[in-house]
Amino acid sequence: MISMSERFDVVVAGGGTAGAYASYLLAKAGFKVALLESKSGEQIGVKTCGDGLGLHHVERMAKYLTPNPRVFQNKIEGVELISPDEKTRLIIKGEGYVLDRFAWGKWLVEEAVRAGAALFEGHTATEPIVENGAVVGVKAVERRSGMAKEFRSRVVVDATGSAAVLRSKLAGWLISEPLHPEDVSHAYREIVYVDEALESPQYIKIYLNMTVAPGGYWWIFPRSATMLNVGLGIWGILKQNPRNYYEKYILPRFRVSKKYHIGGGFIPTRRPLKSLVGNGIVALGDAAAAVNPIHGGGIGQALLTAELSSRVIAKAFEKGDFSEKTLWEYNVLYMREWGHRQAQLDVLRLMLQTLDNDDLNFGLSRKILNEDEIYHLAAKGTNLSLMDKFKVMMQFLGRPALLKKLSISIQYAKEIGDLYLAYPESQSDLDKWHAEVVKKYNEFREKIGLGPLPLA
Ligand SMILES: Cc1cc2nc3c(=O)[nH]c(=O)nc-3n(C[C@H](O)[C@H](O)[C@H](O)COP(=O)(O)OP(=O)(O)OC[C@H]3O[C@@H](n4cnc5c(N)ncnc54)[C@H](O)[C@@H]3O)c2cc1C
Repeated sequence: MISMSERFDVVVAGGGTAGAYASYLLAKAGFKVALLESKSGEQIGVKTCGDGLGLHHVERMAKYLTPNPRVFQNKIEGVELISPDEKTRLIIKGEGYVLDRFAWGKWLVEEAVRAGAALFEGHTATEPIVENGAVVGVKAVERRSGMAKEFRSRVVVDATGSAAVLRSKLAGWLISEPLHPEDVSHAYREIVYVDEALESPQYIKIYLNMTVAPGGYWWIFPRSATMLNVGLGIWGILKQNPRNYYEKYILPRFRVSKKYHIGGGFIPTRRPLKSLVGNGIVALGDAAAAVNPIHGGGIGQALLTAELSSRVIAKAFEKGDFSEKTLWEYNVLYMREWGHRQAQLDVLRLMLQTLDNDDLNFGLSRKILNEDEIYHLAAKGTNLSLMDKFKVMMQFLGRPALLKKLSISIQYAKEIGDLYLAYPESQSDLDKWHAEVVKKYNEFREKIGLGPLPLA
C-alpha cells in the first residue's frame, strides 16, 4: 500500500560517494533533491573498500567542494608493486590518500544535506516508476516501518552501487545492460591493527600473485604503520570466495591485535556500459560500472560521474526535456573524459588475467615495463611506442609469446580506446558503433586465447 507520494526535481537512489556528491552538486545548483539511502544512523557512510584515492581526484573535486581534512587518514606517495615471488618491488610514484572511509562517506552526505538535499535515510529504493516510456520516480520502502512510498521526479539517479538496483529493472532499455561474471571482481578486505609496524607506510602495496588472488591482486593500504586495510580481489568468472583465500594466504602473514572492520563486495571491472542514460534516468559510479578495470578503484569515477551527470541534468532542466536524447550528452562527456581510457585499461586487464606467476615474475624482474611506463599506462592510457620496445625486446629477452601478447594488447588497447573516443553523439548511431566494438574485442580476444566477448 502506498501511503505517501512526494514530488522532487531529482530523486537520487543511494547515498554512497556518487549519490551523495551528485545530491550535493544538484542541491547547490538549486534543485529540489531527495536522497534515498538504505542505511540509517551511524551506518550511513560505511562502505567496504580499500579506501585508496588518487590526489588528482581530490583536486578536481576541490573545485566544487573543499574536502574536510578529517577524511584523510594517510598521505600516500606512490604504489609499491610486488612480483609473485616477492623478489621484485617496483616503486611507482603518484600521490594520494588512504581515506578514513566512514568519515568520508558521512561527510559527503552531510554536505549534500547542508546544500539542501532532503535525506531519506533507511529508505530502500525498490524499482523505478515508468510511465509512457520514461522513468518518473522511484518506489521505495521505509525499512523501519515497512511503509511503501513513491518519490516522483523529473530525473532519477541510480547510484545504488554495484547492484544497480534501478537500471537493472529496466528490461529492454539500453541502460539495463547486465554485468557478466567475467566483468566483475569479488573482493574481501579487513581493516586490522597489527603488532609489527609496516615498512614504508607512505606506499600502498599491490601484490600480484595468481595463487593468492587469481585474476586479481592482493593489497596492503596502510592507514598508518600499524593500522592496515588488507584485502584482495578475485576474477568473478572463477566463482571463488575471496575470504577463503584471505584466511588461507594473507591473514597468516600478520600478527593482528584487533580487527576494526571486515567485509566483502563485488566490483564491476569492465569496459564502459553501452549507455548510462535512459528517458528520465542516469546511472553513476559502480551502478554505471565506471570503475578502473585494472585496479578496481572507483571512488574517483563515482565523483566524476556525479559531476558530469549533474551538469547534463541541469541542462535538461533548462530545456525542460528529460528524454534519453537530452541526457545522452552525459554518455558523450563520460566516454571522452574517462570511458575511452576505461576501455583501454579493460583490454590490458583481460591480457593480465591470462598471465601466470612465471610470466609476472619474469615481466616485473626484467622490467618489461619500467616504473614510468606503468604509471603512464595506469594514469594516461596506452602508448604505442611501447610496441616498438616489445619488438626489440623479443629479439633478446626470451619469452617471445609473452612479449607478443603484450604488444598485441597495447595495439588493441589503442584501437579500442579510439573507438570509445568516437562514441556516437546520438543514439541512432549506437548499434553500428557497438558492432565495431564487439568486432575489435573479438579479434583481440582470439589473439590472446580468450573466447568471444560474452554479451551477458
Ligand atoms: C573490497 C573493495 C575494495 C575497494 N577498494 C577501492 C579503493 O581502494 N579505491 C577506490 O577508489 N575504490 C575501491 N573500491 C571501489 C569503490 O568502493 C567503489 O567504486 C565506490 O565506492 C563506488 O561508489 P558508489 O557511490 O557508486 O557506490 P557505493 O559506495 O557502493 O554506494 C552505494 C550506496 O547505495 C546504497 N544503496 C544500495 N542499494 C540501495 C537501494 N536499493 N536504495 C537506497 N540505497 C541503496 C548503499 O547503502 C550505498 O550507500 C573497492 C571496492 C571494494 C568492494
